[in-house]
Amino acid sequence: MIGDGTGLAQISAGFYRNNQKFSLESFPVIGFQKTYSANNLITDSAAAATAIASGQKTNNSVLGQDVNGKPCKTILEEASDNGLATGMVVTSSIQHATPGGFIAHRIARNLYEEITLDLLNSNIDFFIGGGKQYFDRRESDDKNLLDSLKYKGFNVYNYFNDDLNKVKPDPSSKFAFFTADNQPLPAFQGRDYLPQAAKIAADYLKLRSNKGFFLMVEGSQIDWTCHANQVEPMYSELQDFNLTIEKVLQFAEKNGETLVIVTADHETGGLGLNGGTARVLNPKFTTNGHTAAMVPVFAFGPKSELFRGIYENTALYYKMRTAFGFSEN
Ligand code: MG
Ligand code: ZN
Repeated sequence: MIGDGTGLAQISAGFYRNNQKFSLESFPVIGFQKTYSANNLITDSAAAATAIASGQKTNNSVLGQDVNGKPCKTILEEASDNGLATGMVVTSSIQHATPGGFIAHRIARNLYEEITLDLLNSNIDFFIGGGKQYFDRRESDDKNLLDSLKYKGFNVYNYFNDDLNKVKPDPSSKFAFFTADNQPLPAFQGRDYLPQAAKIAADYLKLRSNKGFFLMVEGSQIDWTCHANQVEPMYSELQDFNLTIEKVLQFAEKNGETLVIVTADHETGGLGLNGGTARVLNPKFTTNGHTAAMVPVFAFGPKSELFRGIYENTALYYKMRTAFGFSEN
């Protein structure tokens, strides 16, 4: 689970704001990861997602390729190769930098129509997110890739016609649900699907393969509210992510075989918590961009002890491989 832009100050702010409770308190293992990219002390979300997903430090804006442009296999792709079910659930478009780092191999994160092709050609079983327009109103070709999704065995739903709370994903088919044409609404404007979507995803993926599953869940818009230096919208995104972590923890506690890892790709906004009271904080941002601060890693469940300590963001990939028991590549 990735809270985009969610450093320690954001987590602290979410904790104080939520009556001094946060789902992350029940995680027994804590670590820190160093987020810098191959060409910058301050990473962007593309290089960070590539590092986490593939164990490769690459240049900012690059997805799923090393610094020489060589494609690198992602943990999602390896999980799929090993017969596990795979999915992603996000509150951005499904082609955005963070999910893109798990399924795309492109020189630039803004190649949304090309990233859509990579998604289509991946073996992913399940996704929920925005970005429908890159399937059905493409500028680079006239293809309707929603038809291609259906041809590949997906049951395809969208926010306009379908209610995510009423859709019952069939584990014998693949599943796609579009929550927006491009970017989903912010939480403070009423977007609230992430907790339920994460639960639906875990329940589906568990049934999809008896070998296990890999699921990436992103609170995508925490980062955007911090870029905009907007405190109240940030709280609502943090609360949404907190509820999502609770849902996933409930699944993992019951299931007993699920490792849950919660981290960020980087910190955004250089957030400082400048006094006030626990109820009325006085948060201040120091930048509109990202910062170089290390970000925490929280782990729960089998093999969670692997995630203790201070390490590079690329180590997350190797730790996940070890936890899955994949053979050396
Ligand atoms: Mg993101
Ligand atoms: Zn950002």
